[in-house]
Amino acid sequence: MAKNIRTVLQEGCVNQAAIDQYAEEVSAVIGTENVSSNHIDLLSTCRDYWPVSSIWMLEGAVPALPQLVVWPQTTEEVSQVLALAHERRIPVVPYGEGSGALGGVVPLKGGIMIDMKRMSRIRVLDQENLFVTVECGLNGALYEEHLNRSGYTGGHFPQSLRCSTVGGWLACRAAGQFSTRYGKIEDMVVAAEAVLADGTVFSGRSVPRTSTGPRVDQLFIGSEGVLGVITSATLRIWPLPEKRHLASYTFENIKDGLETIRLFMRAGIRPAVVRLYDAQETGNHFPELGDKRCALIILIEGAAKIVDAEKEIVEEQALALGAIDTGPEHVEHWLKTRFNISAASRLLQKGAVLDTIEVTTNWHNALTTYLAMQEALKGVAGTMLASGHWSHVYPEGAALYITVVGFPGNDKISYYKKLWQEAMAACLAEGAAISHHHGIGLHRGQWMAKEHGKGLEVFGRIKDAFDPHGIMNPGKLGLGEVEKWQK
Ligand SMILES: Cc1cc2nc3c(=O)[nH]c(=O)nc-3n(C[C@H](O)[C@H](O)[C@H](O)COP(=O)(O)OP(=O)(O)OC[C@H]3O[C@@H](n4cnc5c(N)ncnc54)[C@H](O)[C@@H]3O)c2cc1C
Repeated sequence: MAKNIRTVLQEGCVNQAAIDQYAEEVSAVIGTENVSSNHIDLLSTCRDYWPVSSIWMLEGAVPALPQLVVWPQTTEEVSQVLALAHERRIPVVPYGEGSGALGGVVPLKGGIMIDMKRMSRIRVLDQENLFVTVECGLNGALYEEHLNRSGYTGGHFPQSLRCSTVGGWLACRAAGQFSTRYGKIEDMVVAAEAVLADGTVFSGRSVPRTSTGPRVDQLFIGSEGVLGVITSATLRIWPLPEKRHLASYTFENIKDGLETIRLFMRAGIRPAVVRLYDAQETGNHFPELGDKRCALIILIEGAAKIVDAEKEIVEEQALALGAIDTGPEHVEHWLKTRFNISAASRLLQKGAVLDTIEVTTNWHNALTTYLAMQEALKGVAGTMLASGHWSHVYPEGAALYITVVGFPGNDKISYYKKLWQEAMAACLAEGAAISHHHGIGLHRGQWMAKEHGKGLEVFGRIKDAFDPHGIMNPGKLGLGEVEKWQK
């Protein structure tokens, strides 16, 4: 164990003799060099981008520490790593690159972190059937670069592209910035291979669709490590687009911007990027547009003739609702800066509490949910900013992404908890879903019963069947109480 580090949420750990014996046995399977209890390795894998972890880290504390880190390289090795842990009832947490935003990788009960980075091969690039079979530890940017070299795109660009893995995307039901054309990650999965807690390996078949009963591999999409480890996936790919069109507009208000999007989606138009910012975010991201109107950023790509037709319909629709055409340069600026999050680190160091809260609305409550959440967040003493944008849109509705920044003084954690209580209450009261793509992790678990009702208990039964000793990522996805955090 890393000594002298305060662990704020640790809810126990495994008897050291059991860990030592496990380490010896697992070393025989994956090699001593791929098993570590060095402090630096335990610290490197003990947390993610959950803002609370960052607040504690700046104070010299961590949420919890694992006791061992292992780096398997093949599905067979993952199977043995898990089977040995299952036999000894040792908790296991799958770890991608730790870019999760809700504390999903925090090893509440100690045990083993299974770091997936050595599983990073592209197994198959099938150009005829347009799919790729990729191992889950592969870094997102390397995945896309690999496809680009052969003339394809994976169509998945989360802002965390450079610091997340394919497995993390699947485990969290991630969304990329180009999701309106290519879909969220769950729309891209043809099949997945996974390993259950007891080491059982199974995979779905890489055929387009089936009518062969429920797809067990699909259950792992969004499972956040609580059912087992996803080891590889077959994902859809697309030939690199022939043409790209960039456009931007501003609207007098959010309502007209949302209505424009709803109408072109209804007409079957699917730009890759659709981003509508409230006036405050318009001013922050595009100062040259001022902070009185709402900017809409559009990127359309694909076959040239289709792009031209889509462009025309979007333009007609926007202008009909009073938009001002502000040209392509704002989209070019967004493309250049879209992975830059350095402002967040600077604010954190200045004592701010900063977080983003993404939820899913239908069209009928897209605006009211924004207004209700914004009012709720602004009502918490210390809040300086609560702004929003919509960046993933569907015929049925859109994802709303709220950014909140506050300077609450010393008691940052109480402020953080209050923010979320208010925001989630407003979201649920409006009938929106509590997350669109960041997932649940540790922190958002407390609202899972309200989100799912009886469904959470049913999912708990599935979890019990897949992981009878409860070793997989305990305390996450709202399964089980996390007393130390919720009180
Ligand atoms: C700056 C920033 C921007 C972000 N932008 C986006 C965005 O645009 N879109 C988006 O969707 N998300 C975004 N996120 C959130 C985060 O990047 C995603 O949730 C990402 O999918 C997590 O990937 P990871 O590999 O880092 O997973 P980790 O953080 O390591 O793990 C996340 C969860 O998945 C589990 N897990 C990881 N790998 C596996 C596996 N192979 N099998 C089973 N379970 C596994 C872990 O146990 C944990 O519960 C952002 C985060 C940051 C910090």
